[in-house]
Order: sequence, then C-alpha cells, then structure tokens
Amino acid sequence: NLQDKLDRAFKVLKGQGSITEINVAETMKEIRKALLDADVNYKTAKTFTDQVKEKALGANVLTSISPGQLLTKIMNDELAALMGGEATELDLKNNPTIILIAGLNGAGKTTFTGKLALHLKSKGKKPLMVAGDVYRPAAVDQLKVLGEQIDVPVYANTESKDPVAIALEGIEEGKKNNNNVVIIDTAGRLSIDEALMAEISDVKAQTKPHEILFVVDSMTGQDAVNTAKVFNDRLDFTGVVLTKLDGDTRGGAALSIKSVVDKPIKFIGTGEKMDALDVFYPDRMASRILGMGDVVSLVERAQQQFDEQQAAELQKKIRKNKFDFNDFYNQIQQIKKMGNMKDLMGMIPGVGKMMKNVDIDDNAFKSVEAIIQSMTPFEKENPDAINPGRRARIARGSGTKLEDVSKLLKQFEDMRKVMKQFSNPAAAAKLMRNMP
Ligand code: GDP
Ligand code: MG
Repeated sequence: NLQDKLDRAFKVLKGQGSITEINVAETMKEIRKALLDADVNYKTAKTFTDQVKEKALGANVLTSISPGQLLTKIMNDELAALMGGEATELDLKNNPTIILIAGLNGAGKTTFTGKLALHLKSKGKKPLMVAGDVYRPAAVDQLKVLGEQIDVPVYANTESKDPVAIALEGIEEGKKNNNNVVIIDTAGRLSIDEALMAEISDVKAQTKPHEILFVVDSMTGQDAVNTAKVFNDRLDFTGVVLTKLDGDTRGGAALSIKSVVDKPIKFIGTGEKMDALDVFYPDRMASRILGMGDVVSLVERAQQQFDEQQAAELQKKIRKNKFDFNDFYNQIQQIKKMGNMKDLMGMIPGVGKMMKNVDIDDNAFKSVEAIIQSMTPFEKENPDAINPGRRARIARGSGTKLEDVSKLLKQFEDMRKVMKQFSNPAAAAKLMRNMP
C-alpha cells in the first residue's frame, strides 16, 4: 500500500533502506560472483571488489545522488583502470611497420589480419598481408579472398613450407611496393605445443616485428587466459586482440588477460565481417563486463543534473541542521528526474535481486509532495514549528490523513539526524560499516 511505498522511499532517502544499505560487503560478494560468471579470474575479482569496497566506504555518500550510483561509478572506474584506463594505439611509426599475428587455430588470426588491414587502409596506410600459414592451403586462399574483398595485396608462396622464409620474402615484397605496413598472418595449432612455439619464436627473431598481436577467442574463458600467458612468456607480445566479442559474450576474459600478462588489449573483434573491428576502450569494456549497458550514461546524466554547487550548499545546510522541506522537495525532484530508479539499480549485479520487492516510482512521492506543497513558506523553513494545529491544516490541504503528516514529520526528523552524520565522511563510513 501507499504507506509501505512511502516507508521504502524514505528509507532510500534516509540511507537506511535496502538500497543505501547496500551492505557493501554483501553486495561485493554478489558482484564477485557476477565477475566470476563473466570469466574474470578469482584473484582479479577479489582484488577488484576489495578496492571498490574500500573506495565506497571512504566516499562521501551525500555528494552523489545515491550510494548505489556512486558504487556503480566506482566499479566502472576501477574496472576500466584495471584494463589499462586508456585505449592503446599501435606503434606505426616505422616504414614498413611489421606486425606479427599469433594465436591458436580458430582464434580469428586470419580474419583479424584482414580487418586490421582494412582498418589501417582507412587511416591512410598502405598495408600488405603475408600468408604465413604453411600448413593449411585453405588458409592461403582464405587470406587471398579477404584481400580481394578489401582491396589489399596479399603475399603468398605456396611452393615454400618455411614460415620464416615466407615472412622475410613478404617484407621484401612490401618494401619493393612501398607498403608501409606488413601484416604477417601465421599458422596456429589446436592447442599449445612446442613446435608451434619454436616456429613463431623463430619468425619473431628473424623478422623483428614492431608489433606482435596475440589473437584470442574471448569465448574460451579461462583457457584464453592460460594461452595468453604461455604465448606471452615465449613471445613477449605487444598487445592482445579479443575476438568474437559479438553477441552477448561478456568479455570478462579481457580483465583477466590484462591482469595476468599485463599487456594492453588493442582491438576487439565483434563479428565475422571485415568491418567488425573496434579499438579497445577500457571504460566501454568495463560497462560491458558489469552488464550495465546504458547505466553508465544514466549515471552520467544524473551527475550532470546534480549540480555540485547545490551539493555543497546542501551539505552546509545539513551540517548546520538547516536542511528544510524546500531542500527535501528539491531532492525528490532530483530523484524523479533521474528516471526509473528501480531499473537503474536493478542493472547492478547483485542489486537486482534486492530491488525486486522495492517499488519506487513517481507515485511513491506524490503524497509527500502534496503534503509539502500544503505547507506555508514559514513551515517549510521551520519544520520544528509545525505543531498539531498546523499538521491538521496541512493534512486537510493535501488530502491526506493527520497521521500521514505526522509520520512524514517524524521521518523527516530522523532523516535529518542521519544526514547530519552522513555529512561527515568519517561518520558516514562508520555508519556504512556498521550496517547489518
Ligand atoms: P585462425 O585460425 O586464427 O586464422 O581463425 P580464422 O580467422 O580463420 O577464424 C575462425 C573462425 O572464426 C571463422 O569462421 C571466422 O569467421 C570466425 N571469426 C573470427 N573473428 C570473429 C569475430 O570477431 N566474431 C565472430 N562471430 N566470428 C569470428
Ligand atoms: Mg588462419
């Protein structure tokens, strides 16, 4: 019923209900589970949630719209930082720049070779692709087909079975034709074996590539991490390409790979077509891993609307215990402007479940707004002066019951007390730590 809704809405505002009480430890446990489900390895997930917890507890809850949003933002920022923070560009200053492509069979090396060539071509480069997979004749044809499709030349030598020789011939061919980038596609194996590692190491030693890109199928989860480690130990590659991140693959591998091999992810493949290639942006991947989708933009929108100046003034008022019904009314408007809180909160892993029974919609605030609107300016500024006679008048004016008005005043008073504590970061942290 309405009173229940009001109670819940108040709890939200007071910072004592199911939302604020995002009993941080409990929530982090849920988030850790969500991360593990998304293929993030255990150690990474644990470090991450510990860091978020620490930041969340130390943060001043009042300066954000809601602790839940603050938490979302902190998580997103932390994840992005874990994945390198900024996008990492290819080093293309050499002429020709030699790029070696490595990885297991089926990872998407040949496809990526084509995608990268197209990407570089669109940036004004003049790439040449070298067909270095000597074991599968079909692989040479595959690259030639792609070359024709994107109108990029391919160097192949089906007579030779020597990957090093082919790579060197390809580079010479590139120099002759003024190609400023030479991309060498290589053979994979079904799984890691010594012969493959020796061969690709040899190609590396002889061609001295400026970039070695390790291509890995993001759908292989933890295997992707292990493979990355083996390849990196042997090749010391310069970057990672995560393929098959189309559909709803979550991309937790991105986080783990970065933390295990400490090399930047440079590109992601998002489909079979030649243009299905994206430069890797850590913050976008962070949103993807958290499964937040548009939550990040919602949070940004909310932050914009919550003018910092106003926040500072509000804090001052709260500290002096001058927070009144005008401020309260404004806060409700802010929350309503943010849109559907439930949807917003529900998108945070682990919080969704908690939110199932919480109903915050505009209606929840309707009678509160009516009651406040029925107050005189004097009453709004001096909540303590609202005596029983005034309460009865306000109830009549707002079409509510006297007990509704009394309850609101009581809740408002409780809220002021809690807010006062929250305006002091140390007290807020303590409060959050002691939450059930
Ligand atoms: P290679 O053995 O490492 O050279 O792998 P290929 O480039 O031949 O790719 C293996 C398969 O994965 C092919 O069917 C590709 O079309 C497919 N593939 C490669 N990259 C992607 C991607 O980003 N998304 C999807 N959906 N498929 C991809
Ligand atoms: Mg291939």
